[in-house]
Amino acid sequence: MNDILPPDSASWEWLEAKMRSVLQRYGYANVRTPIVEPTALFVRGIGEVTDIVEKEMYAFEDRADKHGQAEHLALRPEMTAGVVRAMIEHSFLRDSGRRLYYFGPMFRREKPQKGRYRQFHQMGVEALGFAGPDIDAEVILMGSRLLRELGLIDGEHVSLELNCLGEVAERRAHREALIAYLEQHKDSLDEDSQRRLYTNPLRVLDTKNPALQAMANGAPKLLDFLGEASLAHFMGVRAILDAAGVAYRINPRLVRGLDYYNLTVFEWVTDKLGSQGTVCGGGRYDGLIEQLGGKAAPAVGFGMGIERMLLLLEEVSLLPAAPTPHAYAIVPSAQGLPQVMVALEGLRAAGVTVVLHPGQSSMKSQFKKADASGAAFALIFGEDELDQGLVAVKPLRASPEASTEQFTRDLAHVSDWAAELLNA
Ligand code: ATP
Ligand code: MG
Repeated sequence: MNDILPPDSASWEWLEAKMRSVLQRYGYANVRTPIVEPTALFVRGIGEVTDIVEKEMYAFEDRADKHGQAEHLALRPEMTAGVVRAMIEHSFLRDSGRRLYYFGPMFRREKPQKGRYRQFHQMGVEALGFAGPDIDAEVILMGSRLLRELGLIDGEHVSLELNCLGEVAERRAHREALIAYLEQHKDSLDEDSQRRLYTNPLRVLDTKNPALQAMANGAPKLLDFLGEASLAHFMGVRAILDAAGVAYRINPRLVRGLDYYNLTVFEWVTDKLGSQGTVCGGGRYDGLIEQLGGKAAPAVGFGMGIERMLLLLEEVSLLPAAPTPHAYAIVPSAQGLPQVMVALEGLRAAGVTVVLHPGQSSMKSQFKKADASGAAFALIFGEDELDQGLVAVKPLRASPEASTEQFTRDLAHVSDWAAELLNA
C-alpha cells in the first residue's frame, strides 16, 4: 500500500481530470460507495472459486453487537458488486438504465510488485439496465477516446483485445469439451491449473505460465460453441467498433478473472509493463444484478488501473511536467504583510496561482525560492512600491521573445493586469 505524495500526486490529479472530462461527455454520472461491504456481497458477486475471493480479500469479523452477532466485512477488491448493491438498495434501476462512473481505492492481498499493489486505485464505469450491443460498444469507445486523448493509442502503446463469452448454456457445453481436453493434458498442468480443472476450467486458458501456452492455444474455443444470438451480439459490437475505426484483436482465450461476465469481454493491454500489462478490463455481466437480489437487468462496464496507467504514461514519456505557479510573492519586510496578503487574494480571485514566500528571509534566498518554484513571475512587494500602492513584477523565465525587464503594476486594480500573469 503506497503513500501518494507530491509531486507524483499532481500526475494523479491530472489523469483523473482527463478521465472525468471523457466520462462526462458520454453522460456518465459519478457514484461513491463504501470501501467496506459485507464479505458475502463479494463472494456472491465475484464468485467463490476466483482468485480474489479464494486468497486475495481483506476480510474480517467486525466487533460483536449487543446480541453477540458479528458481521463479516471485507475491504472492497473491486467496485462493481458495491455499485450493483447500491443500485438495488436505492431502487435506482426501476424506471430506466443508469450510466455511472467511479474512482477509488481497491484492496487485494496479492504479491506486491511493479504495477501490482495491495491497495490500488481504479476508475471504472458501469452501464446498468442496457442490453447492448450499442452500450458495449459505447463503453469501449469511451475507453478508446480516453486512451487516444492521452496519446496512448496513436502512439500504439496500448491495444484492444476482444472476446465473447456467450451465455451459460454455451459455456456449459464448451466446459465439457474443455475439461475433456484438459484431462488429456493433466500431467503437464501446473498446480493452479490442476486446481481449476474442475472448478473453473475456463480460467486455465487465462494462464500466464509460458510452459502452458501451447496447450492453452490448442484447447477448444468457446467462440465455436456460441449460438446465433450470442454471435449476433458479438457482430453487433464489432460492426460499431469497425465503423468507428477502433482496432481490436479477437482473443479467444480472453476470459477475465471474475465469474460474472457473459457475452462481450475486453481488455486494453500494453507490452510496456511486463507481466502487469492489462491497464483496463471489462465486459458484460447480465446475470449479476439478479444474482445480488435485484430484478434481472443487463449491464456492462470496465475497470481501469490508475497506477498502471500512470506507469505506462511515464514509461512512454506522456506525463506532463508538474504544474508550476504563475507567480511567487517576495516580501522584503514583514511590515507590509497585511497589504501584501490582501493583494494576493485579489490575484487569486482573478484566477492567478500565486505562492507566498513564508516568513522572513534575505532577498537572495527569496529569489532562489522563486526560481525553484518554477513560477513565471516574481512579485516583489518592496516598501517603496507598497507605499505607492504598487508591486514590482519580474519575469523569471528568460526566453528570446519575452522581455525579462521588471515593471510595476497598480495593486488597486489587480483584475486589470491579472491576465498578463495568466497568459505568460
Ligand atoms: P490482472 O490480470 O493484472 O491481475 P485483473 O484481471 O485482476 O488484472 P481487474 O479485476 O479486471 O484486474 O481490475 C481492472 C484493472 O485494475 C486491471 O486491468 C489493472 O489495471 C488494475 N489492477 C488489478 N489488480 C491490481 C493490483 N493489484 N494493483 C494495481 N492495479 C491492479
Ligand atoms: Mg488479478
